Amino acid sequence: MPDSDFGYTAWGKDWVRLAEPLRQTRPDPQLPRARRLARDGKVELTIDGRTVRAVVHHGRTTFTANIELEPMPPETKAAISHHLSGPRPTLTDDLYRTLTTDGHRPAPHVTTTDCTCPVATPRCVHVLAAYYETARRVDDDPRVALEAQDYFRASSQGADVRAAATPQRWVALNALEPDDYF
Ligand SMILES: [Zn+2]
Repeated sequence: MPDSDFGYTAWGKDWVRLAEPLRQTRPDPQLPRARRLARDGKVELTIDGRTVRAVVHHGRTTFTANIELEPMPPETKAAISHHLSGPRPTLTDDLYRTLTTDGHRPAPHVTTTDCTCPVATPRCVHVLAAYYETARRVDDDPRVALEAQDYFRASSQGADVRAAATPQRWVALNALEPDDYF
């Protein structure tokens, strides 16, 4: 199953949906190539504000695709930061479902895309590859999904939330009980 590499978290799945919208009934013939570019490590991503920039090494040529996102609605931000204030805040699939049920689905919305390649379409293979690579990065660390919607920078308690939303595999030093060691 080619799709299983991308979007195995609810947060990452949103980015796969940008490449594979549900409303699109006929599969886009570029998708396998886009997935291959991402899987083969040909896509270098940087996130700057609400822009995801992808440098895509395509054969001997390099193209740069930019994806601009809408800012996250303040209510969604507030809902996320409310849920992240617990003792062990993590961006789990459960949290994603809770947010969605409460009407604050944290899905990204694209405003514009552009690419330096000659194909004049918002869905060239490089933009699609960037969606897949972002999906993969978000699966690894869902904070990337929030970062791309400028969640941290615009939030007044951004630094706190960023620290608090650390994935579970990291344990805060002050969370360790000294009794466990002595
Ligand atoms: Zn392109």
